[in-house]
Amino acid sequence: MSKHEFPEGTLMQGKRGLIMGVANKNSIAWAIARQLHAQGAELAFTYQGEALERRVRPLAESIGAKIIVPCDVTDDGSMDACFTTLRAAWGEMDFLVHSIAFAGRDQLAGSFVEATTREGFKSALEISAYSFVDAGRRASAMMKNGGAMVTMTYLGSERVVPNYNVMGVAKAALEASTRYMAADLGPQNIRVNAISAGPIKTLAAAGIGSGRHMFRFHSAMAADQDMTRLEGVAGAALYLLSSLGTSCTGEVLHVDGGFHAIAMPQEKPLKRSLGIED
Ligand code: NAD
Repeated sequence: MSKHEFPEGTLMQGKRGLIMGVANKNSIAWAIARQLHAQGAELAFTYQGEALERRVRPLAESIGAKIIVPCDVTDDGSMDACFTTLRAAWGEMDFLVHSIAFAGRDQLAGSFVEATTREGFKSALEISAYSFVDAGRRASAMMKNGGAMVTMTYLGSERVVPNYNVMGVAKAALEASTRYMAADLGPQNIRVNAISAGPIKTLAAAGIGSGRHMFRFHSAMAADQDMTRLEGVAGAALYLLSSLGTSCTGEVLHVDGGFHAIAMPQEKPLKRSLGIED
């Protein structure tokens, strides 16, 4: 991606925020970070463990980040330390990007009914949904002049996508949490929204069984007949986190080339998928 694909400007000038969920340069959170940086935001980053620090630190430093801290969302001590560092350095903050999800590989293949274990269910919901509530509570305490939060979700919350399984349930919980958080934090002038992105090739997406077919099916069936682009997701995050998004809260914004809006594809892609010759 070249630099100009993240339009430069001043929409986020003077704003400080935390980016949670960069694993590498392909991460959705990294595209969002680059877009927010191009609009003047000052960013802090979390990374999950030492192995990822090697990838996240150079990326974060390349856009001038000074606060780059470890954070495992399943560990209260780690969350405490992360927000204590932020409070000490900044005092206040303006926005939060939550781009974190996890389910074991064994949970993301085959029958939902058969594959879903008690532990698998608990950990998927904890890491992928509760962590937004927890981070949101901590971040909102630092948003003295209002603010905005955004999380990442997927259509598998609303409709069945093969192999997405317990992650679909976790995303449904995440979207419901977004609405409850929006209601609670609205009086403090804090907006809370989710972006429902189409499939993008990242580390997390690689964990989903038959992901390859998911990508091909998506680009064949989406209204724009294309893959979902990181620039579009980053642009949506900029809208939701900046003053452009005023009055927009409790929303799940689809950025998926119109895939969610289509019940039956147009004739050409339909015939192609059914193997019918013209
Ligand atoms: P990614 O692998 O780059 O990012 C996932 C992040 O979650 C990683 O940075 C990982 O370190 C973090 N994470 C997992 N468990 C954690 C824990 N216990 N503590 C702290 N961090 C933890 O993949 P991505 O596709 O950029 O995923 C980001 C978000 O976007 C996820 O919520 C994902 O479900 C969502 N999403 C992805 C797609 C897609 O097709 N890639 C589509 C829609 C939504």
